[in-house]
Amino acid sequence: MDARHKKRLESPPTRALSESQERAVQDMYNANIMQLGDSKFQCFLCGKLFKGFEFVAKHILNRHPEKVTQAKEEVRRPTFT
Ligand SMILES: [Zn+2]
Repeated sequence: MDARHKKRLESPPTRALSESQERAVQDMYNANIMQLGDSKFQCFLCGKLFKGFEFVAKHILNRHPEKVTQAKEEVRRPTFT
């Protein structure tokens, strides 16, 4: 028998965002960032143009933080319709 396998995994370190929240935020970015060209990305929320996906992501975080919050909230509470 191998004693090493007995060791259970520690609980994951507490992070600001859970894995599913991070995924939800990514999905929100993907839904609101339009790629128009090789280095042309547009914020779907206000129409502003950027040179890279990460710039729009940063812009959304600063200018449309409610979208980020909304994405996280939707994960936290189960949706019943
Ligand atoms: Zn915008």
